[in-house]
Amino acid sequence: MDSGQLFDAVIVGGGLAGTTVAAELALTAPPDFRLLLIDAGGEPGPGTAYAAPSNRLFMNGTARAMSAVPGDKHHLVRWLQTEPETALISRRAFGRYLSERFREALKMRPAFESAHAEVVDVAPGDGAFTIVDAHGGERLARHVVLALGNFEPDYGFLPPALSRHSGFVADPWRFAASRLPRHGDALVVGSGLTALDAIALLDEMGFDGRIHIVSRRGLVPCVDNPFAHALDPRSLDLDTSTPYRLLQTLRATARRHVAAGGDWRDVVEAIRTISPRIWTGWSERDRKRFLRHLQAYWSIHRYRVPPKTAAVYDRLRREGRLIRHRGQITDAAELANGRVRVEVTGPMGKDTLVVSATINCTGPNGNYERVRHPLVAALLRRGVMRPDSLRLGIDATPELRVRDARGNAHERLYALGPPLRGIFYETTAVPETREQAAHIARLIAGERTRLRLETAS
Ligand SMILES: Cc1cc2nc3c(=O)[nH]c(=O)nc-3n(C[C@H](O)[C@H](O)[C@H](O)COP(=O)(O)OP(=O)(O)OC[C@H]3O[C@@H](n4cnc5c(N)ncnc54)[C@H](O)[C@@H]3O)c2cc1C
Repeated sequence: MDSGQLFDAVIVGGGLAGTTVAAELALTAPPDFRLLLIDAGGEPGPGTAYAAPSNRLFMNGTARAMSAVPGDKHHLVRWLQTEPETALISRRAFGRYLSERFREALKMRPAFESAHAEVVDVAPGDGAFTIVDAHGGERLARHVVLALGNFEPDYGFLPPALSRHSGFVADPWRFAASRLPRHGDALVVGSGLTALDAIALLDEMGFDGRIHIVSRRGLVPCVDNPFAHALDPRSLDLDTSTPYRLLQTLRATARRHVAAGGDWRDVVEAIRTISPRIWTGWSERDRKRFLRHLQAYWSIHRYRVPPKTAAVYDRLRREGRLIRHRGQITDAAELANGRVRVEVTGPMGKDTLVVSATINCTGPNGNYERVRHPLVAALLRRGVMRPDSLRLGIDATPELRVRDARGNAHERLYALGPPLRGIFYETTAVPETREQAAHIARLIAGERTRLRLETAS
């Protein structure tokens, strides 16, 4: 690839978000449209989320809900061929599905290409952005899409003796479980879906010790029911004006629905379809209140654990090998035998654990000021983007245009997926991402078609 080539669009990030924008552009952009997708990882498609290190890590939604193609809800079910629409398929299989879709886009479009590189800067210029990679390679692009996904969890709050220990896993989505010790006690920090996946991985690799889970509230995700179906939110008697009114009316609605023989998950799914509207309708004060007081409870109902993963967790608990601790890690020290002594302080007092491995499952780091990534650092330093006011990601318009340090929207710099949590709250899952991808593709293709017509006339 030549340095300095001008592309109509460069997509940074080749996970679900980036490859779906590319696939949508393959369907809608003018024939001579030039696109480059750059990813620092492996083959474009799986990204971080769907390059799962095991076949036993599952999607947390049914195949019926996870099509990557906007407007074609059965696309994934048709691709799977033999699985029913209620199947909770493995994340790896979903990664293969995304790769295949991207490869098809490349086949359809000779002027689409992909590159393996880490982008470290995107500098706005006169009519084009300069995209710089870690080897100093430069490309020019009229439009840039930031599809950066999730950054590994923050660990600055952990005692250094723990986070610098050789058995500490900072990235819970890409670690090789086989490298961890099989015996002794392990510690999982956090108790959400990633924590349950980490426990399933430890179990799969034959770990035979005890696993301690530490989390501030001690909450664990509810089990999913593949047969749950979102109700029409318009049919529900909900007051969404503030988080507390929503909580009250949501509980009452769910109770009524269960009493009538339904599943409470149907009500949660109904809310999920209107979450961005609810979120943008709340004041900043209410959003902060939600994050502080209600988010943890909402999360365990909304992000549910696949039954097969829950079964591993239940079995380990029955065997007495899984121990939950409610509290915070307040101290740690490395011992002469190479293990770490960890102190957990909670409402019931102090617990002392001695562990040989720790997996940090405290959730993606959305606070961009604390993300250790050269591209993020460069974009903040240059004022090309700014964190959103809640520090959940980056600031952007509802049209998905990135805002600069002064709050002005870039005309041709877009973002989608997890970085937009502060803007929409519900923005990371497949259904939301595919709609955002289609929207960005429409904007880019539309602008390019307009330009073409103007040049021709
Ligand atoms: C472990 C996990 C499981 C999930 N499971 C589900 C699920 O079952 N159902 C569901 O609906 N949602 C799920 N989600 C949520 C959602 O689907 C994912 O967050 C989604 O895949 C995000 O896609 P993405 O493309 O934005 O990000 P990612 O998958 O994180 O991909 C981002 C890509 O960008 C690349 N990249 C980043 N920065 C650069 C750079 N500077 N230069 C080059 N490349 C770069 C990375 O290498 C990566 O390949 C899951 C999320 C995670 C983390």
